[in-house]
Amino acid sequence: MKIKGDTVVMGIIGYPLKHSLSPIMHNVAFKALNLNYVYVPFPIKPDNLVQTIKFLPKLGIKGVNITIPYKEEILNFLDEISEDALLIGAVNTVVIKEEKMYGYNTDGNGFYQSLIAAGFNPDGKKVLIAGAGGACRAVAFTLCKKGISDLNLAVRSFTKAEALANDLNSHFSTDIKVTYIDNLTEEEVSEADLIINTTPVGMYPQVNDLAPLKVKFLHSNQFVCDLIYNPFETKLLQEARKKGCRTLNGLGMLVYQGAEAFSYWTGQEAPIDLMSKAVLKSLLNN
Ligand code: NAP
Repeated sequence: MKIKGDTVVMGIIGYPLKHSLSPIMHNVAFKALNLNYVYVPFPIKPDNLVQTIKFLPKLGIKGVNITIPYKEEILNFLDEISEDALLIGAVNTVVIKEEKMYGYNTDGNGFYQSLIAAGFNPDGKKVLIAGAGGACRAVAFTLCKKGISDLNLAVRSFTKAEALANDLNSHFSTDIKVTYIDNLTEEEVSEADLIINTTPVGMYPQVNDLAPLKVKFLHSNQFVCDLIYNPFETKLLQEARKKGCRTLNGLGMLVYQGAEAFSYWTGQEAPIDLMSKAVLKSLLNN
């Protein structure tokens, strides 16, 4: 990659960012399409967030991803926010045009696209989700929008989950309930067509931890997803595979959310296969 006087700067704002795969993924994509863009990490500490965001347009930066812990706070600084991002209450992609900042959320659609690519259409399906944090909000809003019939949020603390259920109820006709994860019954687990772990349980380095989803009740007609991609196959996905379930990790969500952000910035279709291979290679080498 040659950085020149007119190279367009893009990047990711979050803290910490040491393990982010987005720079690898986007720089591979810019290179493949011969675009004069470069994507860099901006690890911004909380005290410096406000000044940083205000200066982005003045630095000529054309777009950024926003990640943990700023996906909600960024909403306060944007000129326009997409309908989906407003519904979800978080922005992970910002486009900067003529000193104005436009916010989008591509996380939920990224998950949905990865499901479709894996051959599972959630329309009309019953869904069980573990967790009710930021990633869950994006996934839950998108799945309700795409027509799932039922959603059971299985959580260890009710406050955030009930707020999410209320938000979802005010926009969709999906049948929604909140359950204590430790009290999940055999019927609640086995009736779900799609089961998604949105908790960090099982993520590196705690790779032997099993998401508390009562795997003994899983059966081979179910599709089980984990938003985690490191490790590539979590303990939950291993157990689900042994039960004959189809499984999907979070790598596709990462790549498809990045691909949609790429299109917002460049107006071009992202080279998804190349992005996916670059991320996979980086994960395998670390
Ligand atoms: P978050 O906002 O912190 O939410 C985590 C949720 O998990 C909360 O509801 C939390 O409950 C629950 N939880 C944590 N430990 C639990 C346990 N032992 N038992 C039951 N529930 C537990 O995090 P997030 O941003 O949503 O991220 C969640 C996961 O998704 C992470 O592993 C992250 O890496 C992954 N992710 C992947 C992608 C991708 O592109 N593949 C994108 C975003 C996130 P409390 O509220 O009670 O703490």
